[in-house]
Amino acid sequence: MKDYIVRATAANNQIRAFAVDSKEMVEKARQAHNTTPVASAALGRLLTAGSMMGAMLKGEKDILTLQVKGSGPIGGITVTADEKANVKGYVNNPDVDLPLNSEGKLDVAEAVGLGIMNVIKDIGLKEPYGGQTHLVTSEIAEDLTYYFANSEQTPSAVALGVLVDKDYSIKQAGGFIIQLLPNADEEVVDKLEKVIQSMESITSLLDQGKTPEDILEILLGDMELNILEKVPTKFYCNCTREKVEKALISVGKKDIKEMIEDGEDIELNCHFCSSKYIFTPEDLKKLI
Ligand code: ZN
Repeated sequence: MKDYIVRATAANNQIRAFAVDSKEMVEKARQAHNTTPVASAALGRLLTAGSMMGAMLKGEKDILTLQVKGSGPIGGITVTADEKANVKGYVNNPDVDLPLNSEGKLDVAEAVGLGIMNVIKDIGLKEPYGGQTHLVTSEIAEDLTYYFANSEQTPSAVALGVLVDKDYSIKQAGGFIIQLLPNADEEVVDKLEKVIQSMESITSLLDQGKTPEDILEILLGDMELNILEKVPTKFYCNCTREKVEKALISVGKKDIKEMIEDGEDIELNCHFCSSKYIFTPEDLKKLI
């Protein structure tokens, strides 16, 4: 099944909710970057969040960037998403390999380390705007919960999960973001807290075959859940040879001339999708 996001409201518009099945997207990212299991989990969680936050954007050209920068061996994670929930991303070190944590799970927190999260929104204003918060647990979901509360003043529950199979392929991936709108009353808040506390992990729900709709039903089924729409989402990179050429031109004539004199092909890789672009000395001459 293809990845999709379900967008919903509940409790008479006091809650807005998103849930996503992001397995294919995370698998595609894993294949593009050849990530180890812990790197797949870290990148996959941020991609999963990015897909839902992309679906929150309103303008056709709006772009969201999520950056996690930490002291851990993964170095950093970058994800961008557009309003159509096209998502792409990479980690600085896809080879990071760590033992499982004390709960027997992939140790994303250790891979990321202490650091910050940047959420940057480019919605066509002169300057992109955004918020920066420090990482709370470095497990990504809690860090986003903290971001929403502190930078957007929106109390939220965020769950993100990636289950890696024995052959390192992605077995399950998905998540949800539940947000309380400013008019939410105490009763709704309490009810939601109880449901979330007693809930199984997102990966175990997905592994039982639960869909994003089912997951929202579990969370909000007795709070007048109202499913609004289903939005397709995917790993997609919009890089082109033309864009890479522009980047190459921006290094300056002098450097390009040196490359030509070296007489060797130049290989450039897209950070986001690992696509290779090769420029022969002949190609470089045309650029000048
Ligand atoms: Zn690309």
